[in-house]
Amino acid sequence: MHELSITQNLLALALQHAEPAGVRQITTLHLVIGELSSVVDDSVQFYWDFVSKGTIAEGARLHFERIPAAFRCLDCQTEFGRNDRYQCPACGSGHVTISAGEEFFLKSIEVEE
Ligand SMILES: [Zn+2]
Repeated sequence: MHELSITQNLLALALQHAEPAGVRQITTLHLVIGELSSVVDDSVQFYWDFVSKGTIAEGARLHFERIPAAFRCLDCQTEFGRNDRYQCPACGSGHVTISAGEEFFLKSIEVEE
């Protein structure tokens, strides 16, 4: 159930930015979530409604921006998208690393002052 602690951290972060600014209501959180991230957006949404209750972020909408997976070949540095074999399409090497798709972070918040 790591989505619960993730969601609590998100709330803490959003409040940390909004409260000193005298914000009345946080209306939207923009989250970036990578295709390979283990975070399940439905679970975050579920916990969000629970943890945000009674705060200035209660009822805020969660907007998820998805980042597709990308890989880089360590042998020839070619960047490529997801394929079935996790192999470099240029040189056939299996020596690849993930260059995008594991992200999960709070990008911005929208508020009413
Ligand atoms: Zn390669």
